Amino acid sequence: MRLSEAIMMNGMTKPQGFGVDSMYSLDAPCAIGGALQAVGERQQYSVVGEVWPWTEENDHIICPLCKYPVPAEQTVAVLFHLNDIHKWTRAQIAEWVASIEPREGENVEVIEEVVYETV
Ligand SMILES: [Zn+2]
Repeated sequence: MRLSEAIMMNGMTKPQGFGVDSMYSLDAPCAIGGALQAVGERQQYSVVGEVWPWTEENDHIICPLCKYPVPAEQTVAVLFHLNDIHKWTRAQIAEWVASIEPREGENVEVIEEVVYETV
């Protein structure tokens, strides 16, 4: 599952949490904790890079809203920033993630075809 999909999936089932503790919350997780919850992983920052390696392969990444250069080369730092500072919804965060995450080729196309057929 792509990171954007995991964020959206959790966003449809759980209220969004804010603050450091929300990373570990089962009832109201932040975008990151919720995404890990959606794929059945432990809710820890270090796990994000294990599940979605591309999130640790960015050289420069800035906040899409305020352009603040998050002091880390990890996408997860921007997710934390968008969730806690700007209070973006999971839908907004997932949309931004989808704009920067790598496409997974055939699998993505098949999923999208199914979605279009049911609409
Ligand atoms: Zn910002």
